[in-house]
Order: sequence, then C-alpha cells, then structure tokens
Amino acid sequence: MKEVVKQFQREAQRVLINAKKMIKPVGWRERRIESFGEDPLECSECGNVMEFRGIAVLKKGHLTLQFANDVLAKKYINREIEIIESETYKCKKKEATRKAIKKYRFNWDQREKEINERYRVHLSNM
Ligand SMILES: [Zn+2]
Repeated sequence: MKEVVKQFQREAQRVLINAKKMIKPVGWRERRIESFGEDPLECSECGNVMEFRGIAVLKKGHLTLQFANDVLAKKYINREIEIIESETYKCKKKEATRKAIKKYRFNWDQREKEINERYRVHLSNM
C-alpha cells in the first residue's frame, strides 16, 4: 500500500511539473533557443549577449521604428534609421546616375548603323 501511495505521489509530482512548464510564459528568445538551438541575442562573432532595445521594420521601402524599450532606445534607433536611409538614398542616386550615363553615352557603332540605314532609305527613294 505504501508503495502505491509513493507511486501516486511521484506521478502527481510529475504532472504538476509538466503543468508548471506548460503555463510558464515563454518569450521570443526562449522559443528561438528551443526551436533553433541558438540564442538569438548572442553575437555569433564574439559571443557577447546583446540586449533587446527595439526593432525597426521595412515599410513601403523605408525603415520605420516599430518598437523601442524606452526614450533613449527610440532616439538611438531613429538616428540609425536616418543614417541607413541616407546611405540608401546616396546609393540609389549613384546607381541612377550611372544608368543614365550608360544610356546616353555616345555609341559610335550605333550612330554609324543609323546613318547607314538612313542613307539606304534615301537611295531606295530615288
Ligand atoms: Zn559581437
């Protein structure tokens, strides 16, 4: 009888532990560790653990602050967004200029071909 009670207690204990595990709130970090086996806040280069301060997302092609822990984090993220956005603008402008130059660069072969075409048309009209 004593053994049966002990067994019951062990089972009850196990069920309680499982229940505790189930109702324990699991955050994004814990879920990532469980699913992928690696800590998303640990730097893959140096192993330092980062602190989550906020997040910026891409909205309609522009980085936008989505969430920040506090005013300081908000300021920092917005400043970083401004820097990244201006770099992106500079890159896009450079690329557009390069394309325009390439498009309007005088092409001697093409010009010669066009002149020959026109000449041929004139001859056939005579
Ligand atoms: Zn690092």
